Amino acid sequence: MSELDDLYQDTILDHGRRPRNFGPLPDATHEAEGYNPLCGDRFKVRLVVDEGVIRDARFEGSGCAISTASASLMTEAMKGRPIEAFSPAFEHVHDLVTGKGAEASDLGKLVVFSGVAAFPMRVKCATLAWHTCKAALDGEEVVSTE
Ligand code: ZN
Repeated sequence: MSELDDLYQDTILDHGRRPRNFGPLPDATHEAEGYNPLCGDRFKVRLVVDEGVIRDARFEGSGCAISTASASLMTEAMKGRPIEAFSPAFEHVHDLVTGKGAEASDLGKLVVFSGVAAFPMRVKCATLAWHTCKAALDGEEVVSTE
């Protein structure tokens, strides 16, 4: 198996090519734009937060397969979750992609990003959507991974 096979697992390829939750979100209560200058990934993440719950999450923009799949899987994972669930999920993903290890049971489908740990240049691709979602929740308009 080549390194690229490790990195580009089926789920990442699938979500990279056919991202879920992609498009505008007119009633968004929170939004932020994230940019990863290392790779050129640029996304807007929009959320509808109501009574402390992320009712809806969508994203727009363009980036590589890893960053697109990450945004797709992140929006899927966070929809319907209380906002307090965001930071622990981000920490788990961050630990996973930086090779610190994380409990697979806490990650669900997000575990597919474990291969990224072998490619430090790709960590910012895999976490861009998360940084951007955090910025949106924190009321910041723009975030760069630099
Ligand atoms: Zn990228």
